[in-house]
Amino acid sequence: MYLKSIEIHGFKSFANKIILEFHDGITGIVGPNGSGKSNVADAVRWVLGEQSAKQLRGSKMEDVIFAGTQARKPLGYAYVAITLDNSDHKLPIEFDEVTIARRVYRSGESEYLINGTSCRLKDVNELFMDTGIGKEGYSIIGQGQIDKILSGKPEDRRELFDEAAGIVKFKRRKYAAEKNLEE
Ligand code: ATP
Ligand code: MG
Repeated sequence: MYLKSIEIHGFKSFANKIILEFHDGITGIVGPNGSGKSNVADAVRWVLGEQSAKQLRGSKMEDVIFAGTQARKPLGYAYVAITLDNSDHKLPIEFDEVTIARRVYRSGESEYLINGTSCRLKDVNELFMDTGIGKEGYSIIGQGQIDKILSGKPEDRRELFDEAAGIVKFKRRKYAAEKNLEE
């Protein structure tokens, strides 16, 4: 499984629709300060379901929508789609290629899509559970995060190992079953 492409339209500094294509290997993104390198990483985090504006370096969710410049009017929505190669079927879905998309309007209305079909955030989370991808996964390591892992509490570090071992879904189900019993 690897990231094949990212489509961004109206997200942060990307007013024009752009498509970045990747290959099975290492890609570096270089550019001057403020040119939008981190915004690409934010776009990936966002489409994977990031709910915290702070994690996306903003103060409210609307901050992800292109806010306009002196030469260009603001846009009404932000859209990001990532396409993953799934020919090894690491993602539990029958397709060889999986596209996850998210769109949000200034009104706050938003939607997620998996291969063009509207779905809930829960479906996106479940698709990536135990893969290391996803907003809580270790596939995106932000600035300062290594330090946090090294100096973090053992319980927090344990979560990382659980995800790598692929047992988060079982823990989640056990928790849900126990909770139901109590009710
Ligand atoms: P550095 O090398 O300093 O880390 P970078 O290439 O990572 O820079 P980013 O942080 O990705 O740069 O991009 C910052 C730019 O994105 C700023 O110029 C900021 O004005 C712009 N930006 C962020 N949010 C929006 C938005 N909603 N609308 C328009 N522009 C935005
Ligand atoms: Mg940056």
